[in-house]
Amino acid sequence: MLIGAHVSASGGVNKAVARAEEIGAECFQIFASSPRMWSAKPIDDKVAEKYHAEIERTGMGPTVLHGKYLVALGSSDPELLAKSETALQSDIAAANKLGALGVIFHPASHRGQGFDAIVDQFAASVRKILDNEPGDSLLMLETSAGAGDHIGSSFEELGTLVKAIGHDRVAVCLDTQHVWAAGYNIAAIDTLNAAIDEFDKEIGIDLLKSVHANDSMRELGSSVDRHDNIGEGLIGTEGFQTIMSHNVFKDVPFYLEVPGTGKSGPDKPNVDRLKAIRSQVGAR
Ligand SMILES: [Zn+2]
Ligand SMILES: [Zn+2]
Repeated sequence: MLIGAHVSASGGVNKAVARAEEIGAECFQIFASSPRMWSAKPIDDKVAEKYHAEIERTGMGPTVLHGKYLVALGSSDPELLAKSETALQSDIAAANKLGALGVIFHPASHRGQGFDAIVDQFAASVRKILDNEPGDSLLMLETSAGAGDHIGSSFEELGTLVKAIGHDRVAVCLDTQHVWAAGYNIAAIDTLNAAIDEFDKEIGIDLLKSVHANDSMRELGSSVDRHDNIGEGLIGTEGFQTIMSHNVFKDVPFYLEVPGTGKSGPDKPNVDRLKAIRSQVGAR
């Protein structure tokens, strides 16, 4: 179980490696381009070269990319759908170039159409994106907190999508805060076991390829997406002990997306907290 964090890639993706190293992360997540704007440039060959040298120097990895927040494969607006596909495809191209594990993205909203109405379109888009960018990098659907019309707050919905996609490069990222907000009590062993069983039955546990490790500011089942620092929220240190001692996470990288003790994003104190829990539970 490797412990990583989301870090800034400003100034070039190669710069992210030292930032991750600085806070003690063993792997990291980045945005390949601004998450709130559609524009994206392919990764420059020289930058990719520097990035690979940095990875070699530090032994850091696996790297994951996070897709743009604008992406909405469940949209009925053809222009928004096309932009979403282009954006994800450029992220997958970047991931392939960097040798990243994959791209994590939000299934987003069905925009009032209802979940069933968007499954075929969503699946066709994911297949097209992956087939247009051959390589090893995965497209990972992230579990959602379930606010409004958001897709993917139940393992059943994610399983339906994954089966409809039917591609060997599709996987799932479990966000601890989002599943908590969606009503899965992963902080207690019995309900964690039940959640894992449900994940396995609906999606297949082999498809769990990454975790966003975030504590929660909001209560279980709130449907509200509000990350907290590890041990400061309602999942709590004991909750993370329960999670990290579960066998299913043994080989899955954890990436922090927490506000940070100084409110500047994932930092060393949060990385150290996860590392301390990992050694307490003997997960490594
Ligand atoms: Zn997340
Ligand atoms: Zn979130």
